[in-house]
Amino acid sequence: MPKGKSLKLHKEFGLNPTISQCILCGEDKNELVLLGAAYKEQAPMRMITTVEPCDACRKTYLSRGVMLVEAEVNDKGQRIPTGPVMVLKDAAFKRIFSVPLPEGRIAFASKKVFRLLQKEVPNDKS
Ligand SMILES: [Zn+2]
Repeated sequence: MPKGKSLKLHKEFGLNPTISQCILCGEDKNELVLLGAAYKEQAPMRMITTVEPCDACRKTYLSRGVMLVEAEVNDKGQRIPTGPVMVLKDAAFKRIFSVPLPEGRIAFASKKVFRLLQKEVPNDKS
């Protein structure tokens, strides 16, 4: 929730709380998030509420890589993550995008860019 804004209660579910999960590992982040009316339905017990990963994942992955989050821009100009994420090593990020590492080491990319990268970057598991 942006600072300085009050929480609008959900008509049926009030504070509408959920436990925030890490976007990378899916573990609980020990954060209780009050969604109120910002979430249309009853919030699930756990959900990903932010692209910021947990402290352990930030330390493990973002200390030497950049997390790319697939996102679409809605008609209000807001970036809405669509699900897929990947972490590129620093060298790969610089080679592919030819831009400095983003602040916070989190960047957003369109579905089209993700499709191209998935062809380009072999999956470690295959
Ligand atoms: Zn994590």
